[in-house]
Amino acid sequence: MSKILIFNSIINLFKTYKKVVIVSHVNPDGDAIGSSLALYLYLKKLGSDVHVIVPNDYPSFLSWMPYIQDVLIYDKNVDEANKIMTEAELFCYLDFNTQSRTGVMHNDLCRYNSTPKILIDHHIGADTSQFVACFSETEISSTSEMIAEFIKYQGFDNYLDDDIATNIIVGMITDTGTFSHSIFKNTFSIFGDILSSTTVNYKKIHQNIYNTSTENRLRLLGFLINDRMTILEDYNTAIIYASKSDLERFNYQVGDTEGVVNYPLTIGNIKMSVLFTEKQDVIRLSLRSKDDFSVNDMSRKHFNGGGHLNAAGGTLYCSLEEAIEKFKSVLPEYKEALK
Ligand code: 5GP
Ligand code: MN
Repeated sequence: MSKILIFNSIINLFKTYKKVVIVSHVNPDGDAIGSSLALYLYLKKLGSDVHVIVPNDYPSFLSWMPYIQDVLIYDKNVDEANKIMTEAELFCYLDFNTQSRTGVMHNDLCRYNSTPKILIDHHIGADTSQFVACFSETEISSTSEMIAEFIKYQGFDNYLDDDIATNIIVGMITDTGTFSHSIFKNTFSIFGDILSSTTVNYKKIHQNIYNTSTENRLRLLGFLINDRMTILEDYNTAIIYASKSDLERFNYQVGDTEGVVNYPLTIGNIKMSVLFTEKQDVIRLSLRSKDDFSVNDMSRKHFNGGGHLNAAGGTLYCSLEEAIEKFKSVLPEYKEALK
């Protein structure tokens, strides 16, 4: 279906269904929150009764985002979230494409299978069959950029304001590592259009995201790189691990390890970097790569996860040591590709 037909069908759904619930993925990042709030503010302009629900809390470095106080955190408000979802006429799934990515919300969401759903997402491997409208594209920086495109189709003059623009910009910056990867042919032109159509202060947005760290967070980064990073020369790969006690030592707050996995890629020959984080009862993997080495494929095949070509996540249900061993055991399969 052409993009114009998709946009028109989404516009019609928004005219028909006024009680809308926007849902994004577990451990919501800048793009999950940014795209959700941008669509939320657009729908408010249309007069919709709209809510944003995310499975769990967002990192504190996003807490300044316009209207973020309106985001309902499911695991802190289960009853209220279910009341809103029961009454919803339309769900919008943003920045993920398999329902299991909603973590603790997944089981409850299954109860609303018959409520129409829209998907807007930029991850690989969307199962489009369960949606009444699907805007799924992978050659795009972020879901936030997709919301920008959707709004631009209806005229930035009519709908874009500084709050919506700020949310979109946060999603675009954070999902591209400040425009260092996941850049496609329209990324800069739409970004330029957003800046020239509003009075947002890009420098201030950047400062709010990146220059509001705590001393603990910076020291944790230093510690993890100095004491917890191993270079696996044969595979041009770096691994870092963060145990529960490491995190406790630096008074870990949600979001404090965000970005750590990118640093090993600054070493010239390193093609892949992986961070293992010991969570309550699982090990989370965060994978990054250079060039055409697909961490998405690797994570789908071995680590119960997925994502994008150069940035993916996964989960292993074992100890930290076993997770690292499991990772090392699959590396020979990729030796050629990592050369
Ligand atoms: P991060 O390493 O920052 O957690 O995730 C990197 C990218 O992979 C993000 O775009 C995220 O949405 C995606 N991702 C992270 N974890 C998973 C997962 O378990 N499954 C899938 N399908 N995608 C994931
Ligand atoms: Mn995204």
